[in-house]
Parts: sequence; C-alpha cells; structure tokens
Amino acid sequence: MIIALAASLSMLSCTKTTQPNDYNVDRFYDLEVLRYDVPDFDQLTEQQQLLICYLTEAALYGRDILYDQNCRYNLAIRRTLESIYTNYPDKTNEQYLLMEKYLKRVWFSNGIHHHYSEDKFLPEFTQEWFAEAIHCIPQADIERLLEGYNGDAEAMFAELMPVMFDPTVLPKKVNQADGVDLLLTSANNYYAGLTQAEAEAWYAAHKDNSPEPLWIGLNSRLVKHADGTIEEQVFRIGGHYSQALEKIVENLEKALEVAENDQQREVIEKLIEFNRTGDLKTFNEYCIAWVKDLESRVDFVMGFTEVYGDPLGITGAWESMINFKNLEATKRTSVLAANAQWFEDNSPTAKEYKKEQVRGVSAKVINAALLAGDCYPSTPIGINLPNANWIRREYGSKSVTVQNITDAYDKAAQGNGFNEEFMISSKEIEMTRKYGSLDDNCHTDLHECLGHGSGKMLEGVSKDALREHGSTIEEARADLFGLYYIADPKMVELGILPNNEAYKAEYYRQMMNGAMTQLVRVELGKDLEEAHMRNRQLIANWVLAHTNPEAPEVQIVKREGKSYMQVNDYEGLRKLYGELLAIVQHITSTGDYQMAKQLVETYAVKIDPELHREMLERYKKLDLAPYKGFVNPVYKMLCDKEGKVISIQLNYNEGYAEQHLRYSRDYSPLPTWND
Ligand code: ZN
Repeated sequence: MIIALAASLSMLSCTKTTQPNDYNVDRFYDLEVLRYDVPDFDQLTEQQQLLICYLTEAALYGRDILYDQNCRYNLAIRRTLESIYTNYPDKTNEQYLLMEKYLKRVWFSNGIHHHYSEDKFLPEFTQEWFAEAIHCIPQADIERLLEGYNGDAEAMFAELMPVMFDPTVLPKKVNQADGVDLLLTSANNYYAGLTQAEAEAWYAAHKDNSPEPLWIGLNSRLVKHADGTIEEQVFRIGGHYSQALEKIVENLEKALEVAENDQQREVIEKLIEFNRTGDLKTFNEYCIAWVKDLESRVDFVMGFTEVYGDPLGITGAWESMINFKNLEATKRTSVLAANAQWFEDNSPTAKEYKKEQVRGVSAKVINAALLAGDCYPSTPIGINLPNANWIRREYGSKSVTVQNITDAYDKAAQGNGFNEEFMISSKEIEMTRKYGSLDDNCHTDLHECLGHGSGKMLEGVSKDALREHGSTIEEARADLFGLYYIADPKMVELGILPNNEAYKAEYYRQMMNGAMTQLVRVELGKDLEEAHMRNRQLIANWVLAHTNPEAPEVQIVKREGKSYMQVNDYEGLRKLYGELLAIVQHITSTGDYQMAKQLVETYAVKIDPELHREMLERYKKLDLAPYKGFVNPVYKMLCDKEGKVISIQLNYNEGYAEQHLRYSRDYSPLPTWND
C-alpha cells in the first residue's frame, strides 16, 4: 500500500516516543474510544519512519470515500454537523450537547448507520432545533455543502431532514434479510436505481471466467439511468472519487522514493497505477506483488478491500492500515507457517478438500501505525489478504495479527468485572487471567495464517456460490480451524502454548461469547446480522445442539436465576469443533448454497429472546461499552527551509473530536455530493 521522497535522510532525527498516559479517551452510547501505543517506532530506521509518514498521509485521504460509500448523504450530514459544532454560539445548550453526542457517533460509524448493527441511529436533539441551528453555518461552509448538489441550500437541508430524523427512511446500511430486494432495502451507495436482479444480471454478463479472473465490480458502482441503461462508474483518477485518489497517489509517490527495497517499490508502483487507471488486471498484479513482499519491515493495506459492506459481496469498502513488523511476536507465527502442511494434512476435513500443497502461507505479527477508512475508528485485530481465491491458491496470502491493538483492548478491559459476572466459577476466571491473552493471539494467528488459507474448492465451484452466506461460512471455517488446532498437542510441541491446559481458556470463552455474551452488542428483538457475530453463534449453537444428551460435553446451566456456560469435557468439545469444521469445509469446497443457508438460518441468525434479555440486563449493570474504537497517534514531519524533512514527531495527545475535526479540515478532498 504506498509512498515517496528521497531526501537526504542522514539528518533525520526522531523525537523519542512516549506512551499514552490515558488509554480511555471518550465514551458515548454503546461506544468507547481508546488509544493505542506504537511500540518500537523509534527503533525503525529514519527511512522506514519517513515511509510510514507518507503512507499515513495517503491513508487519511481515503476517509471521505468510505463515508460516501456507506451512504450518499453521509458527507453532507457530517459537514453540516461539524459546522454547527464549530460555529454554534451556545456550547452549553442542551440540544447542542445532544448534537455533539450524535456527531461523535457519526464519526465512529463513518456515517449515520451503526458500524456493527448496520441500523440507522436517530438524533436525540429535535428537528426544530436543528432547523434553527443550521442558520449559524457560515457562507463558506454552505458553499462547500453544495459542492456537487443540484439545487440550493434550502432544498438540500430539506432533503437531509428525513434522512436524519425519519426512522423509516434508509433504516439499514446493508440488508441481509431473506426474501426482499437486498439493494433497494440497503442504504449504502454501491448501487443507484438498480434492483438486485438487475445488478446480478449485470455481474453475470460481465463475469470473468478465465483462470486468472478480474474481480469485476471491486472498484466501481453501478448506476441505472433514466433511459434504462446501466453505467459502471469506476473509482479511479479522472473517474469516480478522483479528488481523493489524486491525493492518495500524490503521497504514494513520495512513499515510493523511500521504499525499503525493489519488491516494495513494485507494490507501491502497481497501487499508484491501479488508482490512476482502475484497471483490475493491475490490481491483480498489485496483489501478487504485495503477497511476495515479505522482507520489508513496513507494510500496508490501502484501497477497496473488504466486501462486507456490499449486500452482494462484490464491491470493496475503502480501508487502510499502515503497519510494521513486530519482530519478537512474528517468531510465533513463523513457526505456524513453517508447519502449514502438517496442519492441512491432519485436519478433520475430507481428503478431497485438502490442499496437496499449501503454498505461501506467510504470517506475521504487526503493530498498527495508523488506522483509516473502514479500519477506523473500529478496527480488526487480524487481517488476511488478498481476497481473490485464485491468487491465494497460486501465490499464497499474507496474514497478520495486530498486536498493539489487541494489547490496547486488554489494557482497557483489565478489571472491568465482565468475567466475574459471566463466567461460571473462579476456575474459569483464573484460567482466563493466566492464558486468555496468549490464547487470543494464538487463535487469531491460527485463524488468519492457516484457517483462511486452508482447504480447496472443487473444480468449477465459484467463489460467490454461497452468496449472502459466504462471509459467515468463511469466517466459521477459519475460526473452527483455529479452535480445532489450538487444543492440539502440536501447539505445545512447537513451543507456542506452554502446556496442554492453556487452550481451555479459549474454548470456554468461545462458547460463552458465541452463545451468550456477544448478544450484549445487539438490541433486543433484533437478529444477528454481522458475519463474524453470526459465525460465532453458529459455532456455539451448533455445538450445543449436537452434544451427547446422556453426558453433554458443554451446556448452559442456571444458577440463582442466572445462565452460565459450563464445559464438562474439553476433549469432547474439541471433537465437536472438528465435526463442524468438516461440514463447513464440505460446504465451502462444494459451494453448497442450500446447506450453507440451512446452517446459517438454523444456528446463526435468530436469538433466544429470554437469554438475550438476561444478557443485556446483567451487562447493563456493569456499565461497559460493547464496541471499541481508537484515535490514531499523530505523526508530524518537521521540515527545514528547503522543505526537507529533518525530524519526525510521534505523539499521543490528540482527543477524539479534535482528531476528527482535523481530518475533516486537512484530509477531505471530495465534494459533498458524488453522484
Ligand atoms: Zn477471518
């Protein structure tokens, strides 16, 4: 993902980095904002630090793209709110404070829909107050708001009102519900005016069936015009989102000049070219170059990547994570990667679904240096890319575990009372204290660097055969692979876990979380929507439904009116995980849509309302936020009179609102309306 600039680097000095003194930055609704450390930044070479700086600059310019992808009104609403936030005269006004709270939520979700549940959230301030408050917006901001809009300010605000205040308008960002048109009922901006059938027909007609297929639709949106023609608008310089992509490329060019080696240079060059042309063949070349870049210390993800935001699972949301290798922890994943074939050969899946040769499984542990786009403020703790199956098969994939983010979660959660409330006895609490963190990292490593890359599809099975259930099944497959193997004596033999007891903390937590405690993230009466949550419940509930009725390996028990997960037989639980892994691999390898649908609908979607209510009540008493996100550190390049960078400063002092306002001021190149 990125970079440029061959200044003489000998003069460069890095200000000693300090640790953040406060990890908990802000708290509102069900959200908490944390800070993360960037350990070892000062041990990078000056060139590597500079590379990171240019990459972070490029990454920040993608922020607006994601807002617009999530919903076409998001930029207008964010900019309106930010202007009121800055210019409203009475900052103690009750309605103003409710507006501030709503704006913080918009920043957190990159738009007006909850980042996890996908539901639109409503302001608590009144429409009347808002209609008054917009009068404080200065003329310059009004002009900005009208960029790309066909009409005047009055018409525009009138259009925004129902989008913000009417719960029936655009209620869902990504609809996955069965039996309705998924495009017409989704609020996101990947399709304009098309029905699901029309979009599917378009994709079918343009599908690339060659052995090295282009991912048609990854970097574009489909628009149906009044005359009935369908236009594909490609995200590239000179095309859609051009203004943002120009700034991204400008900074990638600077990064290019300080690349660490030729391989990394090729990666950055290909990405620049892809952003210029939108050519998907270049994108494939970029992915391949990126997979091959294993030696560089600095690395990045940057561009249209994950497809969870598209109800059809085709178009990528813009995201970025700038990072560098954590050398110590990477030793752990290297051991796994070196033994990848052993894991493949010994997995409980059918022989015909195994890869004869697991190739290019590379794994490393990284520290995030900056999160952006769909990785910000809420962020994944592991990444496995690229997503194209044929590239994974031919060239392998890169898997990373993001250690400093996991550590930040751990620090923020210490002693918050959660385990004490939900775990069945002090034994489980103690086990989790002792092994929880290690298990967590270890399971993520297995999931990312072996799980996703394991197994193969039978000849002729399409990558999107499982359609809307594809993401859930794929995540379940990787999770189950990790669960099955974390309990294997091989883990102790390889020196990854200290003993044959350590894995139990992960088993207990997975069952408790999948069937019970993750429900605290969902509103009462709602179904599970998000692929990772569905996958976790699928695993836990399938296991609970398939235990031995005479002597259940695991069960939910009641004590003093409270439900607890109780594991009676850890080895038996491992067998069940193995059985389900074999089933899920079968579904993936054969592309059996009906079977996927049945599995997901039976175990992954519906929630037991009694249990749900109980979890919410117990959780509420703890007064914790179920979702966490982050503020980024600030990198400052100090230049001399000639513009040469002489020093890089890293600091952790920026507040949440401060950071978002700065990003909106300095990294916001898109017009407000991008139709
Ligand atoms: Zn995954």
